[in-house]
Formats: sequence, C-alpha cells, structure tokens
Amino acid sequence: MFGLRRRFVKEGHIEEYAFKLQDLEQRYEAYTLVMRTLLVFLKDFSMDINEIDAVGFRSALDRFGEEFFEETSAKRIHRRFDREKQTINGYIDDQKTYLEERDRELRKIIDLLSRAMVTLNSENDAYHQQILQRGEKIEQITRLDDIRKIKSALEKEVESLRETVEAKQADEKTRIQSLSSQVESLREELHSAKEESMRDGLTGVYNRRAFDNHIQTLVEHQLVNRKGFAILLLDIDDFKHINDTYGHPVGDRVILALAMACRQMIRSDDFLARYGGEEFAILLPGASRRNAVKKARQICKSIAKTQYSLDEQDDAVTLSITVSIGVAECGRHDDVDTLLEKADKALYKAKAAGKNRAETI
Ligand code: GH3
Ligand code: MG
Ligand code: MG
Repeated sequence: MFGLRRRFVKEGHIEEYAFKLQDLEQRYEAYTLVMRTLLVFLKDFSMDINEIDAVGFRSALDRFGEEFFEETSAKRIHRRFDREKQTINGYIDDQKTYLEERDRELRKIIDLLSRAMVTLNSENDAYHQQILQRGEKIEQITRLDDIRKIKSALEKEVESLRETVEAKQADEKTRIQSLSSQVESLREELHSAKEESMRDGLTGVYNRRAFDNHIQTLVEHQLVNRKGFAILLLDIDDFKHINDTYGHPVGDRVILALAMACRQMIRSDDFLARYGGEEFAILLPGASRRNAVKKARQICKSIAKTQYSLDEQDDAVTLSITVSIGVAECGRHDDVDTLLEKADKALYKAKAAGKNRAETI
C-alpha cells in the first residue's frame, strides 16, 4: 500500500489521491473478506468423501488462500488463480459424479428392497414381525449422514431381508411338501375307501351297487356307440339244500369258491358282481347273444365238474354244485330294467328246464 501511495502522489492532488487511496484500501479489505468467506464456503461445500480426496482439496484451498493474500504481483495472482480455477472446477465435477453414482446405487437398493417386499406372503405373523423390524432399521439408516455408511448399512439390511425371505420360502416349500404328501395319502385312502364300497365283503368281487352303476353305464354307452354287451345271470342250484346239509359256513365257502372260479373263466374287462345271496351277474362287453350263451355253457360245465373238498385234512370228503344261467343281450331298445327282466326270465327258463344249464329267451 505504501508503495502505491508513493507512486501516485503528485503536487496539488494529495487530498484527492489520499481519498482514492482510502477508497482502494477499503475495497481491498472488502474483497479480501469476500474472498476468505468464499474459500470457507467452498471448503464447507466439499463433502467428506475419501474417494475423491476431499482432504487434499481442502488443503489445496488453504494453500491457495495463504499464497493469494501474500502475493503482491497481479500477474502472478492471475496465473495462480487460473490454475486453482481448474482444480476447483475438477473437484466440483468429481463430487457431482460421485453423488450421482451413489444416487444410482441407492435407487438400485431401493428397487431390490421393493422387489423383496413384493415376494412376501401375508400368512405368517412371526415373519411379518421380522419384516417390520427390518423396515424400521432401514428408516433409521436413512437418518445417517454419510452416504457410504447408508450404503453399507443398507446392503447389510438387504442381506438380512433376503435371508428372511429365503428362510420363509424354504419353510413354505417344506410345508407344501408335507401338505402334498398328506393330500396324496388322503387321495389314496379315498380311492381305497371308494374301491371297498364297491366290493362284496365275502367274495371280494363287485357288489350290487357297483353292478347297478356299471350296467347303467354300459346301457348308455351302447346307445351312443352301439357297442353291445351281454349279461349272464347265474344262480346256484338247490343252494338251500347245501346250507341245510353242510351248514351256513360251508355255504359261504361255496359262494366264495364259485366267485373265484367265475373270475378265472372270464376276461379282465368282463365285469363280475355278486348280484344277490347265491346269485352272480357277469357283464360281457362286445359279446353277442350267441357268444354269451357259449360262454355260459362253458361255465356251467366247468362248475359242475369241480369237486370242492369239505375237509382240509381229508380230500375224500367233497361236494359239487351246479349253476343255472340266464343269458340276455342288450338290444337297441333295452334299458336296464328290460334287460334284467330278459335275463331273469332266461334264468327261470333254465331252472324250469332242469337246472345246470344256460338258457336265453
Ligand atoms: P334254486 O335251485 O331254485 O335256486 O334253489 P335254491 O335253494 O338255490 O333257491 P333259493 O333262492 O330259494 O335259496 C337260496 C338260498 O341261498 C337261500 C339263502 O339262505 C341262501 N343264501 C343266500 N345268501 C347266502 C349267503 O351269503 N351264505 C349262505 N351260506 N347262504 C346264503
Ligand atoms: Mg336264488
Ligand atoms: Mg338258487
């Protein structure tokens, strides 16, 4: 300042120069104050970010401040300021980029969290509780100042959340597996209960209920597909006499033996049912009346020549039985009742004709 004063002092203008000098000094002080304040603001503006060397930037600003105020050459001040301008600009860009990157990462994490939340199922209370706690923790994290701390804390929470979701999924998988095996065994039980309800207790062949259903189905099919079938109505001859002579338990065993014999003489898609006490019905899909009569006669013959042993220890004590069979073919105009009536009449005919035979009408 004193150098300046010496340079500009001229005869007669001292007062004017003194005034200008005072003004310059005041302006210089004001600029200095502004400059120092701006440097402080700039330092405050730079965030605590190691990755872009915030510490280095601040010390550069300090150095610049010191040198700037000590510098007396305006040229050197300009040169120095040009250099510093680049440093400051570069730092502002770095900080902006850094913040944008963090912003993108945060968005990614938030997206991940939202997707994790969407997979949640609303069944399990304990699980819900865990998720709520996670949510509270995430809220607390957002109150932290340092963006890096937010990031690492969020990552930790996302990891825990993911583990919670995975544990829940594993738990659900186990529950589903156990439920499906329960469903499977119930299905099997239902199936065998259904099967059982269609079987005759003594012989194991189909019972009357199953027969009624099946013959109804065959009659309906024959109406639609013209796929004919025949029925054999089989009755043990003089069965009362067998019961009276050998007793009821022997009668039962005879009924069982007859059922097994019939089963062996028919095809797997033929349908054998116990129709009544000592009566059986056989449905022969695709059989004509002629073929059905043939089959019935074979059965009669085979039954008549079979000897049933009465005593397991003594094969010499045997009994034989005969059966009569009424045969009917399901005609185009038949329903279940007319068909059964035909078969019943044919059976009556066989009995009336002397038993141990097959008849048709
Ligand atoms: P037919 O030659 O005219 O058929 O004479 P049947 O004696 O066989 O005739 P009926 O129908 O009068 O008698 C059938 C007998 O079969 C009467 C009944 O006591 C007997 N019965 C019916 N169901 C069973 C059973 O489950 N076990 C035994 N042991 N006997 C039965
Ligand atoms: Mg009978
Ligand atoms: Mg009989």
